[in-house]
Amino acid sequence: MDGPNAAKLRALPQVQVLLETPCAISLLARYGRPGVRAALRAALDDARAAILQGAPGDTSEQALLDHAAQSLDRSPRLARVINASGIVLHTNLGRAPLAAEALDAAMQAGGYCTLEYDLTAGGRGSRTQGVGALIRRITGAEAAIAVNNNAAAMLLALTALAGGGEVVVSRGELIEIGGGFRIPDIIAQGGARLVEAGTTNKTRLADYRAAISPATRALLAVHRGNFHMVGFTETVARAELVTLAHAHGLVMIEDLGHGDLLGVFGQDSVTDAVAAGVDVVAFSADKLLGGPQAGILAGREAAIAPLRQHPLMRALRLDKLSLAALEATLDLHARGEHVAIPVLRMLAQSEATLRDRATRLAALIAPRGEVVASEGQAGGGTLPAQPIVSAAVALRVPAPDALAARLRAGALPVIGRVAAGCLMLDMLAVGDDELPALAAAVRGAVGA
Ligand SMILES: *Cc1c(COP(=O)(O)O)cnc(C)c1O
Repeated sequence: MDGPNAAKLRALPQVQVLLETPCAISLLARYGRPGVRAALRAALDDARAAILQGAPGDTSEQALLDHAAQSLDRSPRLARVINASGIVLHTNLGRAPLAAEALDAAMQAGGYCTLEYDLTAGGRGSRTQGVGALIRRITGAEAAIAVNNNAAAMLLALTALAGGGEVVVSRGELIEIGGGFRIPDIIAQGGARLVEAGTTNKTRLADYRAAISPATRALLAVHRGNFHMVGFTETVARAELVTLAHAHGLVMIEDLGHGDLLGVFGQDSVTDAVAAGVDVVAFSADKLLGGPQAGILAGREAAIAPLRQHPLMRALRLDKLSLAALEATLDLHARGEHVAIPVLRMLAQSEATLRDRATRLAALIAPRGEVVASEGQAGGGTLPAQPIVSAAVALRVPAPDALAARLRAGALPVIGRVAAGCLMLDMLAVGDDELPALAAAVRGAVGA
């Protein structure tokens, strides 16, 4: 090739030359040689592609170094954000914010701790003993263990209790939860065969009975976490399913998902499922329980014991930080200190409290922003049919999407919601202590 493009390509510096510039040397100190070299190579590749497309832009040494520095600065890290989306259990934003007590406990456990140590015996102890004792106390279950998340809990239960056999599930409960978690897939992954009972909208006890064969190991019920079925529908009461399972020597497994321990939200609770005799109830710890990411399996000792001993348990086990935070959160539940758990506190706020918070934010960013009624969500596939009355500050700007992007790009990113041509800052998941920082972020983004 020749002509002006070839000359520009030839004029691009070598990576080695760029690496020896003072600017690169300061980048090397911060990001290390492999990272800086890769970023410089990428900057040169971009410059070459731009030249070949006839839009070279600035291909000076300094421009290439700036380009590389920017991409190194942008390399993804977990960053704290303000959640003004109106969704309390926002899966992309880390679901449940932890209680101060849970954070403290995780900090204490960060060093050496009794993760698997029995202080009395001076030797090896069991990892989820503390969680087990707390769940027993709160729900009346005979036994409980904790693993990485509820998907892991289901995989463990199905593998250990039904692997090699058949699992009967209603056609109305063969659901996808999100993030690729589909009940039929997880049954297959657990080495069990799915046998469908009934129809999408109606499943009767006789359908389950007809689906049971000598190969059946378990009946599985799945909570419809993220959708709502209305109209011509029929399901089987939990107590009847338990009776049917036990009459055939099967285990009754239930995926309860949301993890509402006591029925604070007027739906089926873990305690109800345990009381009805379900052998294994699986649920998330970072939904309505308000704890760290974890999955809990609670129920009968005879059904939990094989899970404890299963080789998968080792692969799915919880780390000490999560375990400490989980114990502390469960301890708050056990003591009835629900207001100390952020998720429960947020979901119990009155409309007046939320409106007051919105009014204070509006005052901090006046004259922009208007207090409006809003509809929040619990999120995380919980409480699907219950919109939550909330309040928001609406910013009426010509380009709300661009403002939303500027808010996300700030030093303390703010996640809002664009609706009806406005940028909405919903107060449901915003703390009072976050208002000054939120207001500063909005003033910066609006002024920009
Ligand atoms: C949320 C949910 C899951 C997945 O739980 P994770 O803790 O996110 O793995 C599984 N089943 C149901 C019914 C759920 O609601």
